[in-house]
Amino acid sequence: MFFEWRARRPHQNQYFDTEVHAERISLLNGDVILATVRDISERKKVDALKNEFVSTVSHELRTPLTAINGSLGLILGGMAGELPEQAQELLTISQRNSDRLLQLINDILDIEKLEAGKMPFNMQEVDLLALLKNSIEVNQAYANQLNVRIEFKTELATARVSVDPDRFSQVMANLLSNASKFSPNGDVISVKLEKAHKDYRVSVSDHGPGIPEDFKTILFEKFTQVDASDTRSQGGTGLGLSISRTIIEQMNGTIGFESKEGQGSSFYFHLPVL
Ligand code: ADP
Repeated sequence: MFFEWRARRPHQNQYFDTEVHAERISLLNGDVILATVRDISERKKVDALKNEFVSTVSHELRTPLTAINGSLGLILGGMAGELPEQAQELLTISQRNSDRLLQLINDILDIEKLEAGKMPFNMQEVDLLALLKNSIEVNQAYANQLNVRIEFKTELATARVSVDPDRFSQVMANLLSNASKFSPNGDVISVKLEKAHKDYRVSVSDHGPGIPEDFKTILFEKFTQVDASDTRSQGGTGLGLSISRTIIEQMNGTIGFESKEGQGSSFYFHLPVL
């Protein structure tokens, strides 16, 4: 067993962070628990400094980058007159890359806020059916660009849950954009809503390449990408699933996936029935 624990210094009213490894050892006259407690307060301080630095830099980068992105959009939209074909191509590449940078910065800021518990969650009682239909409609535009269709299946007439609708849509956008990116051209993604004991289960299934065995245990960790090469055809930051997991857990749910390499993936989450 492995966990983090805030311990109190003996004879002092002072708490510090520790990491505890505990294991059961069988001896001739019975079992004992052997625990190693390591002081990790220095590491925590360095982590906090690093997070603060990354967050400050990201904030500072976001404003000018948003302005650059906006201007590129206006020029490409014809605000500055008609562009020669080559300029149009070069500016399209610039805009695509500034989109990627903005996405990365927004993801880093989201992770930082979620981990610090500073992301506000506006929990509301809502019908999952309506939320799912809306997410599919919004994300179909991106899927269309990749010639992929999203279909919705359920036998339920209503499914009341308590979620933050904006954060919920963020999770759906991530799962649907991943499924679209990895689907074969012309394919169909299936979104399913079912009742599973005391939960509702939502799954997003595709017929893409699936997740290789080696990546299964680390897929939800930050910056994990199966193909992280610069030449990968799909964009992405490797932060989406990590953000999605934190959001779902904050809304009292669980998230996971089933996949066989070469046979597609099915990402699912459970949310408690109200
Ligand atoms: P991103 O998509 O931005 O790279 P994510 O955290 O959303 O980051 O996903 C991490 C990685 O998991 C992806 O880069 C990809 O390698 C893998 N992955 C996620 N969804 C799928 C899917 N539906 N099919 C195949 N691989 C996937």
